[in-house]
Amino acid sequence: MSSSSATYRAPVADMLFVLRQLAGIDELAALPAYEGFDIDTAAAVLDECAKFNEGVVAPLNRTGDLEPPVLADGKVTSTPGFADAFRGFVDGGWQGVQHPERFGGQGLPGVLAAPCREMLNAANLSLALCPLLTDSAIEALLVAGSPEQQARYIPKLISGEWTGTMNLTEPQAGSDLALVRAKAVPQPDGSYRISGQKIFITWGEHDLARNILHFVLARTPDAPEGVKGISLFAVPKYVGGEGADDGAGEMSGEVSGEASGEAGGSARRRNDVWCASLEHKLGIAASPTCVLLYGEDKGEVGAGAIGWRIGEENRGLEYMFVMMNAARFAVGVQGVAVAERAYQQAVAYAKERVQSRDVAGSPAAVTIIHHPDVRRMLMTMRALIEAGRALACVAAAHADWAEHAADEGERRQHRRLHEFLVPIVKGWLTENANEVTSLAVQVHGGMGYMEETGVAQLYRDARILAIYEGTTAIQANDLVGRKTARDGGAIARQFLQLIGGVEQALAERIEAIGAGAATASDLAAIAGHLGAGRQALEQAVDYVLANHDRDARAVYAGSVPYLKLAGIVLGGTQMARAALKAEAMLRAQAGDAQFLAAKITTARFFADYILAQAPGLATGITTGAPGVLGLPEAAF
Ligand SMILES: Cc1cc2nc3c(=O)[nH]c(=O)nc-3n(C[C@H](O)[C@H](O)[C@H](O)COP(=O)(O)OP(=O)(O)OC[C@H]3O[C@@H](n4cnc5c(N)ncnc54)[C@H](O)[C@@H]3O)c2cc1C
Repeated sequence: MSSSSATYRAPVADMLFVLRQLAGIDELAALPAYEGFDIDTAAAVLDECAKFNEGVVAPLNRTGDLEPPVLADGKVTSTPGFADAFRGFVDGGWQGVQHPERFGGQGLPGVLAAPCREMLNAANLSLALCPLLTDSAIEALLVAGSPEQQARYIPKLISGEWTGTMNLTEPQAGSDLALVRAKAVPQPDGSYRISGQKIFITWGEHDLARNILHFVLARTPDAPEGVKGISLFAVPKYVGGEGADDGAGEMSGEVSGEASGEAGGSARRRNDVWCASLEHKLGIAASPTCVLLYGEDKGEVGAGAIGWRIGEENRGLEYMFVMMNAARFAVGVQGVAVAERAYQQAVAYAKERVQSRDVAGSPAAVTIIHHPDVRRMLMTMRALIEAGRALACVAAAHADWAEHAADEGERRQHRRLHEFLVPIVKGWLTENANEVTSLAVQVHGGMGYMEETGVAQLYRDARILAIYEGTTAIQANDLVGRKTARDGGAIARQFLQLIGGVEQALAERIEAIGAGAATASDLAAIAGHLGAGRQALEQAVDYVLANHDRDARAVYAGSVPYLKLAGIVLGGTQMARAALKAEAMLRAQAGDAQFLAAKITTARFFADYILAQAPGLATGITTGAPGVLGLPEAAF
């Protein structure tokens, strides 16, 4: 068995390469918003982050699988060690990495937060979900919360005194949130009473923090049907207490008298929201997934959980989309994270396990890393991870520019580029995590199927990523409808143009170094597949635009392949950029030669094996609808 199942080494060198060479962190650092920040700070932050996650969080991953949280008397006790690790996380300032300094955050660029979050998720996907949801809650408050709500909640969420949750799903409302039924009844004092049932609520009940702030989608009594009648509410697990820090201090009349009188300093009270059960899951066993009941009248505040509306009535889904976009991006990063850990474990095993002679002949059996097919598996894993990390960081940089660029037009432009990439980061990176963790099991052979090896846990844990925060199909529908068709393909075509620019740069570089140079054949292969990939994506974009309104079923029959195509072509573009940078650095003897040479080889592999799939995907997307939709339902 591999001795490496408990270890994780953060890939800091690759993270720094991506930040600097692909995501433009130096240019970002020049923005007034990031005064005092530079690449040295980024490197120091990544080193500290690596130390914490490798040393404190990663060793708890297996414990979580073996000793999941327990529900007793309505209380959830988390996996042993998790509460201390969480405390270390928040005390180290990690929850606030990218959040504003005025609320106690560190105000660092989101592009740096992405690799920090990758490390946390690689170390422990289950534990990382709690800060992930808190991050998303903070984003929603920043966009839709009143200044008072922001001041009241965000510092507590950043300090880890409270954590956040997202309450969307109900038994009849999963992908389709138009079907949400939870009720919110307004009270004379401006608060609401919330009732209903929410299911699958991640970290919906736990003992890591003093309080939990649930973000709940619900309908007010006169709300219109469908998505236009959904509002967003903040519902603390406890209301009242010192400083009336949950909003109860605003209350008057019946509710304030009963709920707290915190203004008068009475103790905090249990709100009317309860964990009815914990789910038994395929993976992420240590993340408590709760059924939450609102309005059971079992608490200290009377019937209906006391909550406060965030933003305007009936615009809840719009706000929740902010939260979901942040969460969707973060789930994409989870995909890279778990894939990276699986890759590291597979490499370690492949270097240890001795089996079979070399195909080219060897006196004795060799370690399996010598076998070409094991190399192919390891290279597939590595290439998908590096491309995914690069794409996520580039997307994060667009979000930073969207927030802080000087010019309004520039900000809008970066916002649109970021939003185009979000469903791809979520959908493609998480599907890749399934592939990579599956390959990690395969590299281990039979031992991969044994729980004690640890790699099976990564395979099981990864499976949820393409499901929650919107399944891959939901991401793909978003990419087709909102992100491609709605603007007539404007942003999609900008990406196509950008790819054309990279092709041009590759051609110029090959010309400059001479076709006979050692790396020229790698760059030429990359350029060839990138060109074919761009054409395939262009063909698919044209097909979507021409048929979206005319034959929607045919277009959506190919939506997931369209997302995959966009992923591999845009991921391949980042790998091509990486190869160009690495080649120039290698030639200038600037940097670690082994790292740079490996980057070029990995990009070459990506082009030959992954980008090369693009034309086939385009064929399915543009001609495959009859096969997808042809059978009558009775034939299934
Ligand atoms: C472990 C776990 C944690 C979770 N955490 C949270 C949480 O914290 N908060 C929260 O609110 N929810 C949470 N969820 C719920 C999660 O977001 C939903 O399960 C997910 O959105 C899918 O909804 P569903 O399960 O109802 O599946 P369904 O919507 O029933 O989907 C079933 C299948 O139909 C497909 N499908 C549905 N609609 C379409 C369509 N329009 N086009 C194409 N295909 C479609 C889907 O892709 C899927 O393959 C969690 C779920 C799990 C399992």
